[in-house]
Amino acid sequence: MAHKKSTRTAYDHLPLLPLRDMVVFPRMVVPLLVGRPASLAAIEEALASDRPLFLCTQRDMEVESPGKDDLYEVGVAASVLQTLRMPDGATKTVVEGLARGRVHRLRRHDTYDEVTVERLQPENPASQDTHVLMRMTLSQFEEYSRLSGRVAPEVVASLRGVDEPDALADHLCAYLPLRVEERQELLESVEADGRLELTSSRLMREIELLQIEHQVRDRIRDQMDRGQREHYLQEQLRAIQQELGTRGDGMEDGTELREQITKAKMPKEAREKALQEVDRYERMPPMNPESAILRTYIEWLTEMPWSKRTRDRIDLDKAKQTLDEDHYGLKEVKERILEFLAVRKLSKSTKGPVLCLVGPPGVGKTSLGQSVARAMGRKFVRISLGGIRDEAEIRGHRRTYIGSLPGRIIQSIKKVGVKNPVFMLDEVDKMSMDFRGDPSSALLEVLDPEQNVAFSDHYLEVDFDLHEVFFITTANSEFAIPAPLEDRMEVVRLSGYTTFEKERIANLFLIPKQMNECGLTDGQIRISRAAVFNLIEQYSREAGVRELERQIANVCRKVARNVVSKKRSRRVVVSEKRVVDLLGPPKYPDIRADAEPQVGLAVGLAWTWAGGEILNIETSTMRGKGNLVLTGQLGEVMKESAQAAYTYLRAHARELKIRTQFHNTLDLHVHVPEGAIPKDGPSAGVPMAVSMLSALRDEAPAKGIAMTGEITLRGRVLAIGGVKEKVLAAHRAGIQSVLMPKANEKDLRDIPNEVKKDIDISLVDNINEVFRAAFGRSSRRKKAKA
Ligand code: ADP
Repeated sequence: MAHKKSTRTAYDHLPLLPLRDMVVFPRMVVPLLVGRPASLAAIEEALASDRPLFLCTQRDMEVESPGKDDLYEVGVAASVLQTLRMPDGATKTVVEGLARGRVHRLRRHDTYDEVTVERLQPENPASQDTHVLMRMTLSQFEEYSRLSGRVAPEVVASLRGVDEPDALADHLCAYLPLRVEERQELLESVEADGRLELTSSRLMREIELLQIEHQVRDRIRDQMDRGQREHYLQEQLRAIQQELGTRGDGMEDGTELREQITKAKMPKEAREKALQEVDRYERMPPMNPESAILRTYIEWLTEMPWSKRTRDRIDLDKAKQTLDEDHYGLKEVKERILEFLAVRKLSKSTKGPVLCLVGPPGVGKTSLGQSVARAMGRKFVRISLGGIRDEAEIRGHRRTYIGSLPGRIIQSIKKVGVKNPVFMLDEVDKMSMDFRGDPSSALLEVLDPEQNVAFSDHYLEVDFDLHEVFFITTANSEFAIPAPLEDRMEVVRLSGYTTFEKERIANLFLIPKQMNECGLTDGQIRISRAAVFNLIEQYSREAGVRELERQIANVCRKVARNVVSKKRSRRVVVSEKRVVDLLGPPKYPDIRADAEPQVGLAVGLAWTWAGGEILNIETSTMRGKGNLVLTGQLGEVMKESAQAAYTYLRAHARELKIRTQFHNTLDLHVHVPEGAIPKDGPSAGVPMAVSMLSALRDEAPAKGIAMTGEITLRGRVLAIGGVKEKVLAAHRAGIQSVLMPKANEKDLRDIPNEVKKDIDISLVDNINEVFRAAFGRSSRRKKAKA
C-alpha cells in the first residue's frame, strides 16, 4: 500500500486537514465528514495538485481554526480516495492513511493552511522479541474480539495473515476502543515494538473489564433464573396441595381469620385494617416468609380485648373490708385509696390524677394494687418499668421484621383479656432515657386521659382505647419520677414499718400465708413471738417485709421437710434458738452489742430508696499539714458538708477546746465505710462534725446516740428529709437517742408512738447543742495528746 511519495523523508507544503475528535493511523481507510471551509479548500487543493493531505488531530476540539499550537505535532499523511458532496453542503471524504509525520511549520494561505512535515518511520529492525510480541498481541486481540463480540471473525483471520510488525500494530490500533489521547499516544509511538507493547497492555485492560462485565451479567442472570425457578416450584406445590386437599391457596385460613375478626367485635378502623390485611394474606403464596408475619399480626388484632370488660362494683364498705383483710395498718394509705375510689364512683369519669404509691420495696405497694382490683371486681396486671430505656418497650416495634411485637402495655392488655383491668406500672422512677427515644413521654400518653382513648402502638398500627384502664403506678422515690409524669399523679407515701408493725404483719399475714404454701397446719408448727422478733431484727434489715417474708418461707420449708422426713406428729415449736438451727447464724448480728462508743466514730442517719439506714462515720488524725482526706464513695454534696464541718471546727477551735493550730500539724481522714454504695446528701454534715471533733479531742461521743442535719459555716443546723425512715432505722439499730434539726419538728408527727417511746429525740438549732449532747455528759474525756 505504500504511496509513491511516502518514500521521501520530508513532505513540503501539504494542505492541512485538522481533525476534531479522531486519530487516523497509516493504512487505515476512513470516511471523514468535512464542513469547515478551510478544510474543504485543503481537500480541493490536494486533489488539484495531486498531493497527499496532512491529517492532524486538534488538542481541543472546540477550536474553529487551529494554529500550530492547537494541534498535536504528529499526524498522518493521507491520500484522498473519494469525495462526495452531501445535500447539506458538507463533504464526505474517504481517505487512506499513508505515513506518520511531524509538523515543522504551518503557513496560512488565503483559503487553507499548509504544513511542512518531517516523515517518521521505524528504524529498528524486527527482532525475535518482536515476533513474540506480535503473536501475543494477536492472541489477546482474538480473546478481546471473542469477549466483546464487536470485531468480525474475518478481520481476526485477515490480521493473522499480516507478518509485518509495523503494519500489524497499526491495524490493531484501528480496532481498539480507545480515547483520543490514547490513540494519539499510539500514533506517536514510532517503533513497532513499542506500539505493540502499548497495544498489548491496552488489550489486557479491555479483556479484564470485559471479563468482569461477563461475571456480573452471569450473576444477575443466575439470580433471575433462581427467582423464576422458585416461583415455578411454588406454583407446582400449590397445585399439588390443592389436589391433595390440604391448605391450598390460603382460602381456608382467610375465612377462619374473617370469622375471628367478626367475633372480636372490633371498632370500625381496626376491623377495616384487619380485613384489608386478610385480603393481602390470601393473595400471598403460602411459602412467602411475609405470610407468617402477616398472619401473626392479624391474630394480634383479633385477640385484643376490643370490647371485653368486667363489670365494676365499687362498694366502699366492701372495698374497705378488702383492704383491711389484705393489709395490716397503713391506715392513712387505705383512707386515701378509699377517697380515690369514692371520687371515681361519684364522677364516673376516668379523668383525674393517677394514683402513685411511693415507698421502699416490700411495704405492700403491689399487694395494695391487687386489693384495689379485688375491691373493684377488676382483673389485675402488672409490669415493671425498672430499667426501661427504649420507647419501643412501651410502644412496640414497627412490623418490619420477624419477631417484632407490640409494646408491654398492649401485650399486658392482651394477656389479661379485658380492656378495663387495674394496671400497675411498677418503678416509674427507674426508667431511663437514651437515643432510642424517651419512654416517659410514651408513658405520659398512656396515662393521660385526653390521649389514651386512642393509644397508638407501633406494631398494632390501629389505636387502642385505654381510657377504661385503672392505672396505678409505684415508685421507690418520688424525686426520681420524671416531672411531666409526676404532674399527673396523686402521690401516696408508704414509709416502712416499725419492728412492732412487722411482728403484727408477720403473725397475721406472712406466717399464715407461708404455712399455707408449704401445706403446714397449726398443729404442725408454731413460731414463737421471740423468734419472729429475731427474724425481724437479725435475719432481715429493711423498711418493708419482703426479706422477712422470705425468711419465714425458709423456716416453713425447713420445718415442712422435717415433718415429712421424720414423720413427726408432734408440733414443731420454732423458738429463737431454733431459728439459728434452721437458718444458720444471723445475717445482721445485733448491732447493740458492738455499739460501744469509739474515738472518732459518729453515727449518722441516711435515707435511701430502700428506706432509712444508719451510717457510721469515722475520722482519724495523723501528723500532717491540715489536709482533709475523704473516702468511702462520697457524693459531691457530702464532700462539701465535710468541708463545711471542717471549716467550722477550725474557726471555733478555741471555744471547742481543741488545739487552735491543729491544721498546721495534723491531717484529718474522714471515711464512711460500707464501701461500694455511693452516698450523698447534706444530712451527714452534723455527724461529720461530731466525728471530726471526737478525733481531735480524742474523746468518744456518748453511747447510743445518732444524729442527722445539714451544717452551715456559721454552725446552724438545717432541715433534712426522710425523718420517719431515719428514726425507724435508728430504732431498728437500737439507738436510744437521736439529734435532729429543729426545723424538722413537724415531721415528728409521722413517727409511731411505740418508737417515740423507745427513742429520745432532741431537736437542735445549732451545732454547739449537738456537741453538748454528744460530749457534755461524757466523762471519758482524756487528756489531749501532745
Ligand atoms: P412492694 O410492692 O411495695 O415492693 P409487696 O406488695 O410486694 O411490696 O409486698 C411484699 C410482701 O409483703 C407481700 O407479700 C405483701 O402481701 C406483704 N405486705 C406488705 N405490707 C403488708 C401489710 N401492711 N400487711 C400485710 N402484708 C403486707
